[in-house]
Amino acid sequence: MTTENSEHFLDLHQKYVLGTYSPAQLVLNRGSMAKLYDVQGNEYLDFTSGIGVCNLGHCHPRVTEAIQRQAAKLVHTSNLFANENQPKLAHLISEHTFGGKLFFCNSGAEANEGMIKFARKWGQEQGRYEMITMDNSFHGRTLATLAATGREKYRKGFQPDLEGFVHTPFNDIESVKKAVSDKTAAVLVEPIQGEGGVIPAQPEFLRQLRQLCDDKGILLLFDEVQCGMGRTTDLFAHKTYGVTPDATAMAKALGNGFPIGAFEVAKQYGDVLTPGTHASTFGGSPLAAAAGIAVIETIFEEGLLQNCEKMAAQLWGQLHQLKNNNEHVKDLRGSGLMIGLELDSPVGDVLSACRNKGLLALPAGQNVLRLLPPLIIENEHISQAVETIEEALKALDQQQNSQD
Ligand code: PLP
Repeated sequence: MTTENSEHFLDLHQKYVLGTYSPAQLVLNRGSMAKLYDVQGNEYLDFTSGIGVCNLGHCHPRVTEAIQRQAAKLVHTSNLFANENQPKLAHLISEHTFGGKLFFCNSGAEANEGMIKFARKWGQEQGRYEMITMDNSFHGRTLATLAATGREKYRKGFQPDLEGFVHTPFNDIESVKKAVSDKTAAVLVEPIQGEGGVIPAQPEFLRQLRQLCDDKGILLLFDEVQCGMGRTTDLFAHKTYGVTPDATAMAKALGNGFPIGAFEVAKQYGDVLTPGTHASTFGGSPLAAAAGIAVIETIFEEGLLQNCEKMAAQLWGQLHQLKNNNEHVKDLRGSGLMIGLELDSPVGDVLSACRNKGLLALPAGQNVLRLLPPLIIENEHISQAVETIEEALKALDQQQNSQD
């Protein structure tokens, strides 16, 4: 264990890292599956998975081994040359999704950005360039994905917004129908809004969107950056909903922490992006793709979708009980191991209380406690997490009473 204390690192952070984040006063330096440890050696149960990234848990031995092996063999070549791993990963993803072709990049925003470019390129000859996206959505921090994002708070200060994005209410098919014009190229939607408060699309809404896009001859694009990679008990949320998009974006858990993103387009659109129309220096490097292959193989070979389903059933059961017995919990929603508890007050104090009791959880908006545990969790982790949340809510009660 390091002899330097957390204040030292927090101080360095404050001095030298741009202040775009306000990290919790906690310096983490080791992880093992569902557990994280800070520099003082304190243990935390991690129900954040690095915001839906480490779905296989921290330092899963198979992913670590694949990264180590590949790092010693070949790290990067550029896309001027093919490598062994990129096509293998594309094949693996394609055969578990809708049989399309993939472009690899490094993050969720970059995956969405590329997918938006794909839709514009597809629509260009018909004069179609507009994207219809949803209120309350989140698609990333680049200028195009910010313009796609349906929450003013992220765009504020960076206007003018990139042109060509129209926002409509989520789960409201009539509004989307009204927004379609002869300029519309695509509808872009998160099957489950993550940052917006863990709000699932109604199954009927996604089915109607599919129908609408077919009727109007426009593209249906999914952003599965947060809800993908096993979290909904299928490899992707579009499988859980039984609605196939024309293209989908993925990132976060694809490398279990090693940066990699991608978008997949259905086979019939495989020739829209031609040589030179899109690129990414690091995209699909031998090393990143090795991590992605290890992740997908592990999900299937270790039965992690089945474990996700089993653990989700238990977690939902215990959270329903909690909701029934606790007046602070107003709503419980999500899918599989992507869960939001809407509280009657801002979630910050509850998150701090959880952290002080050894549980890491996330906010989603002001009042929603978001749980994204790794898919490898076990029964005992669930009981520990729910008990801790219950205690944290009691602490909130005491705090509120003492203020009265
Ligand atoms: N899309 C969704 C649905 C997300 O939740 C996020 C990040 O939270 C992004 C896109 C952006 O991903 P990244 O931060 O990797 O750019």
